[in-house]
Parts: sequence; C-alpha cells; structure tokens
Amino acid sequence: MKTVGLIGGMSWESTQLYYQLMNRMARERMGGQHSARLVIWSLDFAPIAAMQAAGLWDEATLVLVDAARRLERAGAEAIVICANTMHRMADDVAHSIGVPLIHVADVTAAALRAAGARRPLLLATRYTMEQAFYRERLRRAGVEVLIPAEPDRAKLQSIIYDELVQGRFKLASKQTVVAIAESAVRGDGADAIILGCTEFGLLVKGEDLPAPMFDTTELHAKAAMDFALG
Ligand code: GLU
Repeated sequence: MKTVGLIGGMSWESTQLYYQLMNRMARERMGGQHSARLVIWSLDFAPIAAMQAAGLWDEATLVLVDAARRLERAGAEAIVICANTMHRMADDVAHSIGVPLIHVADVTAAALRAAGARRPLLLATRYTMEQAFYRERLRRAGVEVLIPAEPDRAKLQSIIYDELVQGRFKLASKQTVVAIAESAVRGDGADAIILGCTEFGLLVKGEDLPAPMFDTTELHAKAAMDFALG
C-alpha cells in the first residue's frame, strides 16, 4: 500500500471524513486489521479563510506549497488537498512537488461522465462556484456545470463559513441547500448535484436531494485509496 499525504484542516470537520473514509476503504478492500497509510498536515483554517476573503491567493498558495512539500518529505507518495476551494492553487502545488496531486475536479468529472450526468449543479463556496479554476477544469474534462444564482450563492457561502467549518449543522440550512437543489432541478433541468464543498456531506445526504448526488469528499477519498492500493 502506498502512503497518501492529506493537506487538511480546511476545515478539520471534513478532514476527519477523509480520514474515516480512507481507513474504512482500506479495511473493506484488504481485510479487518488493515488501515490506510496516511500523513496529515492539518492547517489552522482561520488565517486561510481570511486570505480567501481578502483575495490573498498568492499567500495562500505559499501555505499549501509548504504543506505539500512537508508531506512529501514525510513520505507521501501522492498529495490530496482536502478542500475544493483550495484547488485554486492545485497547479502551483503540483508543480512544486515530485509526487502526483490527486485533483478533486478530475475525480468528480470522471464520476459525472461515468453516470451520464449532463447538467450537474455545483454547490460550493462562492470562490469555487464563481472563479474559473474549478469550472474550467471540469469543462476541460467534458463536464459543463450549472451554478445557483444570487442570493443562493451568498446563502451557501454563509452556511459553509459561518456554520459548517465551525461544526454547526442546522436543519434550516439543510433545507436551504435542498431547496436550492430542487429549484435547479425544476427550473433549470439539473440532473445531478455536486457537493463541491467537502463539509456538505455532513449536512445533506443523497436521499435528501432531488437528483443523484456526487459528494466530492467521498469521490476524492476513494480516488486516493485507489491510488494507494492500485
Ligand atoms: N472545505 C471547503 C471546500 O471544499 C470549504 C473550505 C475552504 O474554503 O477550503 O471548498
């Protein structure tokens, strides 16, 4: 089994999901006493969130490049950034290490294509929904996504930063996410829902949603274990 390096803490609420999912997959695939070989570099999220909000992406890139290099020095044979938003600097990170970076958008695009999704709705942070880095990567992989209109993007941003990354999971917020998905399915013909924020799986489940769910945390963790056990 290969060793995977996780850049976590963005937030730790979802890093623990990656940790659980990957260990469970190792057990399921290899047998009861097996667990995943992992190195985790877990960041303090508050300064990262502040850099995002201030548009200080170059500074945030330095933090992630440093984390990836530390993980590589510690023995990681591939790097996983445990957040969608921080894939904004995925290319810079990939170029500064000697091991592969497993990109969440590539993994998600492959799953969407395999399922035949044609009009997936992307639910994510404002940065992931609005900036080019994520949607362009999906487009290059053959997937064109819908994003919610305002004020729904603002609502999602607030749910993520004011609640989920702080460990708050409210029924009203779950209902908001489901309502946004329902309106995209009814109004815009969305045929799949991408949970493009790694904390969303803590709030909504597949059965809550009106179309097939693609949870980036689950897909990314699975791709990382496919690499480790490949
Ligand atoms: N974990 C989130 C994501 O998948 C949001 C936190 C962040 O901005 O890194 O994008």
